[in-house]
Amino acid sequence: MEPDRDIQTTPRGFQCTLCKVNLPNLPSLDQHVKGRKHKTLSTVRATRKAQEEHSVFVSGIKPDVSRTDITEYFEQFGPVTDVIMDKDKGLYAIVQFDETESIQSALACVEHQMKGLKLRVKPREKKEFKLITKKNDSQNLQQVLNRLKPELCQLGSVDAQMQYIVERFQLGENERKARGLLVQLLQEVFIEFFPDSGILPFGSSVNTFGIHSCDLDLFLDLENTKVFQARGKSTTEQAGEGMSDDGRSEDSILSDIDLSTASPAEVLDLVAVILRRCVPSVHKVHVVSSARLPVVKFHHKALNLQGDITINNRLAVRNTRFLQLCSGMEDRLRPLVYTIRYWAKQKGLAGNPSGAGPLLNNYALTLLIIFFLQNCDPPVLPTVDQLKDMACEEEHCMIEGWNCTFPSQPIAVPSSKNTQDLCSLLAGFFSFYAKFDFASSVISLREGRALPITNFLSKNKEEEAKQEEQPNKASHHGPKLGPLNLLDPFELSHNVAGNLNERMQVSFQRECQEAEKYCRSLQYQQKSTKGKSWGLVRLFTPHGDVPHTKPEQLTISIPFKSASLPEGLCNQLHVVGDDFRLLWFQKVCSAVERVLLSVLRCQLAPSTVAIYGEVSAVDATEEMETTSASHNTSANDSCDSVECKDEASPLGTAVIGAKRRLSSGSDASLSPQGKKPRLARRSEHEPPCWICVQKHIVWARRRKVKRELIKEADSNPEGSCMELETQVTAQIVEKEPELKEPLEFKVQPQMMGGTESTRAVFKLEPISDTTGVFHDFFHFLEAFLPKMAETLLTKEVGSV
Ligand code: ATP
Ligand code: MG
Repeated sequence: MEPDRDIQTTPRGFQCTLCKVNLPNLPSLDQHVKGRKHKTLSTVRATRKAQEEHSVFVSGIKPDVSRTDITEYFEQFGPVTDVIMDKDKGLYAIVQFDETESIQSALACVEHQMKGLKLRVKPREKKEFKLITKKNDSQNLQQVLNRLKPELCQLGSVDAQMQYIVERFQLGENERKARGLLVQLLQEVFIEFFPDSGILPFGSSVNTFGIHSCDLDLFLDLENTKVFQARGKSTTEQAGEGMSDDGRSEDSILSDIDLSTASPAEVLDLVAVILRRCVPSVHKVHVVSSARLPVVKFHHKALNLQGDITINNRLAVRNTRFLQLCSGMEDRLRPLVYTIRYWAKQKGLAGNPSGAGPLLNNYALTLLIIFFLQNCDPPVLPTVDQLKDMACEEEHCMIEGWNCTFPSQPIAVPSSKNTQDLCSLLAGFFSFYAKFDFASSVISLREGRALPITNFLSKNKEEEAKQEEQPNKASHHGPKLGPLNLLDPFELSHNVAGNLNERMQVSFQRECQEAEKYCRSLQYQQKSTKGKSWGLVRLFTPHGDVPHTKPEQLTISIPFKSASLPEGLCNQLHVVGDDFRLLWFQKVCSAVERVLLSVLRCQLAPSTVAIYGEVSAVDATEEMETTSASHNTSANDSCDSVECKDEASPLGTAVIGAKRRLSSGSDASLSPQGKKPRLARRSEHEPPCWICVQKHIVWARRRKVKRELIKEADSNPEGSCMELETQVTAQIVEKEPELKEPLEFKVQPQMMGGTESTRAVFKLEPISDTTGVFHDFFHFLEAFLPKMAETLLTKEVGSV
């Protein structure tokens, strides 16, 4: 392992050139170097190097020469450990010796004759070991953009540029025909094995948003085959064994499987066998049974096409019809979707390479665009509920208990009164999501509005509502809540963006904010007379091309994770409704206060009270009442009403609670001196803060002390994480000497929300740090504080 050679210092910290990762500070560098990835790569590199140094390259062999022939020949120069043959053509081999001296002997031999062949032996080429990253993908993107740039720049308007994006990327006529032929072929093959089955394309191949390389999504509909089998069974029972009613022999692949009892995985295994054996040019067939909807994946060599076959996926076929309808109703949708999909791809926000991953998928992104269009003034697209009412009786459609009714033809839907051009709609999209309050909302295309998340936090309420809506239906689980909640327009218990993680949601919103800013500039709206990039070009430019310099901020963030809130807190938040953020923030502040004071034994600086004055604790509910009384507003308004923009805030973001008392004042938060700590504030205009003093290096040796404590107790006492951590601190305080000068620092809590993703942010700043330990303490707190606060929150609220 050669860690030093691999580590380079950069303006932003360090870079490991072996693993191609950036590391912001020494602790993370240390962790990385000790981590699995770095160790594995170092070992692989060392092995490769050793192999290179022990082997020779042999050419001039023929395909019929075996490994044994080569081994036997080269053993005259020394023991051979391995022979790697060129698999495809059998024209060369790499011979690896046990000792490097053997290489010299082999190279010194003037002529190599083996089985009548004249062999050429050369030293092995030494290649620098490089990790192959997915950079190729981004390089491809960059190349496409480089070609696209001049073409876009010469057009006259953003609208024309957007139309050009459609033309440039959409599936061509021939591609669509080729896909159609493949579908036809598959239909013919499958019908042989699954009589009366149907194979239906869905997704981007047919939803009018497909691009050249898009996959071919197929639904194998076996409903009629099941009927066929059932009929066959009863006929067989009547006529005796051996033949079904159409005279087919039972000795077929189909006869092995009873569709009425077979599991999806069994059926898909059979589909995979059929694909492998019966469809020409199909390879790389494999079943992915772990996906939300199990799927058989394959590749079609001749068409260079990735295909997915699912069963039980009627809803996807229907939602594809819905997208087709939207596209038919509104001409502006396609240019918007193509442009935004391309933008999202460029920014690394959408298009998970293997289907699964934390990015938005194209379906979810398209729904976000439709939702925005439903919310334009006047609306560009109607809500799904309105579409349902426009359908006639024959168009009534229920799938798996969900109402999927909408008109089959766009003509049935009145045209929109909205006349905005594409340029302003695109800017509108960015502006809409730049300000969107994701944390408090569940996006519903059905109703065309954001539903309050609090409706979904209390499971009982939500289930009751569903039961009222669809009384005949078995109750569904609620959607899996996450940082971005986007309900499927039909399967209302499904969060289409449930795969997104916090980081991706924040990135999506940040990119929308950046794009919104750019769209306000003249460079977006007007063609450059000097031939410079303008309009969409700059929008698509990846970040690497625009350097960002962000000052280091010592902040610790605790995100609002609706998906993992304890049930007790969910119920409390549900009760307070619109003001749920403030209540949550108070709980988090109280938890952090306890971690600092009780677990880590920080003390309140005596100056806190003297300088800032003591603020008495109030009960959170009382506080909420004051808030509600003064702000009797709707969900979205209330967010603004509790925010007070603090110009002095170093984060430059909205600060909630600057005018409020934040401590919930739990008795457990007594300071070591027995004084009740309170959040203090300087004036009405400054955010509140704690002034803390730490006299011991309580962050060092924690793991070791903890291990010892656990060992002493002979078990890991369950549910007593807080007590254990408190004991760890006590031990350290007892055994380790005090710091020469105590560390004094300020903690300033801020509530982010509304247009930001909801989180409690704690800004830390040293006041007195003569021993220079503040940064170490901060890095420790970065991981420790959120984890402990969340544990405490769960514990406290859980017991309410
Ligand atoms: P592309 O293949 O170009 O990424 P796509 O629209 O085909 O775009 P896929 O991820 O292949 O996207 O999904 C195919 C189809 O499956 C979608 O069009 C949609 O009908 C359905 N689908 C995909 N993801 C979801 C989801 N999370 N929830 C419900 N349906 C989905
Ligand atoms: Mg697809």
